[in-house]
Amino acid sequence: MSKYLSEKYRSLTAYTPGEQPQDQKYVKLNTNESPFPPSAYAQRLARRASGDLQLYSDPECKALVSFAAEKFGISNDQIIFTNGSDEVLNFAFMAFCDKSRPVVFPQITYGFYKVFAQLNNLPYEEIALNNDFTINVNDYIGIDKNIFIANPNAPTGIALSLEEIEKIVSSNPGRIVVIDEAYVDFGAESAVKLVDKYENLLVTQTFSKSRSLAGARLGFGIASKEIIDDLKLIKYSTNPYNINMMTMYAGIGALADAEYFDKNCKTIEENRQFTTDRLDELGFIVLPSKANFIFAKKDGLDGEKIYLDLKARGVLVRHFDSDIINDYIRITIGSREQMEILIKTLEEIL
Ligand code: PMP
Repeated sequence: MSKYLSEKYRSLTAYTPGEQPQDQKYVKLNTNESPFPPSAYAQRLARRASGDLQLYSDPECKALVSFAAEKFGISNDQIIFTNGSDEVLNFAFMAFCDKSRPVVFPQITYGFYKVFAQLNNLPYEEIALNNDFTINVNDYIGIDKNIFIANPNAPTGIALSLEEIEKIVSSNPGRIVVIDEAYVDFGAESAVKLVDKYENLLVTQTFSKSRSLAGARLGFGIASKEIIDDLKLIKYSTNPYNINMMTMYAGIGALADAEYFDKNCKTIEENRQFTTDRLDELGFIVLPSKANFIFAKKDGLDGEKIYLDLKARGVLVRHFDSDIINDYIRITIGSREQMEILIKTLEEIL
């Protein structure tokens, strides 16, 4: 830390991204990326856009906005695109939370929520999960605080039903409820269909997982026009050109290629079942996941030790250094071949 760092950031603990090792080739199951390349059409459109990179990108993302709005059955002014969904989440913390509008989220959830709360100097509260790692919906009813919930939750993979989400949203009309649907395409129910009914609901999604564009950085939020206008206020006050031209066209291509998207999501769901069954046979406890990852532990085995043993054998998974989930490892669901290597390696270790 230099002596010049602002007082307000001196005690900030930054988010720790999953490892992106360059030293050797791993079977990489640690950051919930897609094992499949971007749609060929998305790649073609991005390549074509690269010829115009001397120009600024369109701050309104008009081509992508109108295409996506039609796909999601909303109007053009109900969606905002951002540099990954991390950015729309940060915009929401900035736009809707302050000292008199504190924020809550589950104690075990996406680690960035806490960082965004601290970055923006916001009062926040972490609500414990049930013993089975489910979210206790009653803890969020009528609490009059802004709420961030990942659905499915991370790193557990457990999803709430649409009815449960609706209960939370409808009971907090004076506060914003953000439903982070980064992993929704792998079997959970989206709350996008509720945005016209509830003016306090913001749904965020990403192209990083089900649409194979993690490296392009594209996410979005869907809500009422008024909520989206508030988020645009932050966007135009920080970085109006937050979506680069190649990414915008890659996004259009990925959205257009519905067949490829459907096929890949289905394969991930099949591979998740395959991996869960094999881990079950090996004596692991696997939480019921609706995401492109699973959270698993084996009684008597230390989570960090399994992570290190796997890494030493070229398989990278994620371990979180936190008392409550110390025993667990989070495994991204990859191709069938990758999952077979994971299982074989675990058999060797055991
Ligand atoms: N929400 C959750 C729950 C996540 O796990 C992630 C990915 N790390 C994100 C949001 C952000 O993803 P991205 O910025 O790539 O859209």
